[in-house]
Amino acid sequence: MANTDKIVQVGKYKVQVLRETCIGAASCIAFSPAFELDGEKKAVIIDGVVETEDNLMMAAQACPTKAIIITDAATGEVLWPK
Ligand code: SF4
Repeated sequence: MANTDKIVQVGKYKVQVLRETCIGAASCIAFSPAFELDGEKKAVIIDGVVETEDNLMMAAQACPTKAIIITDAATGEVLWPK
């Protein structure tokens, strides 16, 4: 099962895709192979993915609906969206 609406830790980041907010624009996938679209055209984070923090942040910033939330895993600070 995919990680929809779950918080997944990747490196120093915790990453979450807001399923209700995702419109399947796939911009995130262009920036990071950590994401894929599921059968409902919603972005999900691929299980066990290894990805750089920079790519994850670029993917989140590319999302037109700000559906990707990135928090600092250590502090809980929301890094994106600002
Ligand atoms: S860029 Fe945003 S809206 Fe598009 S698939 Fe990724 S999370 Fe969904």
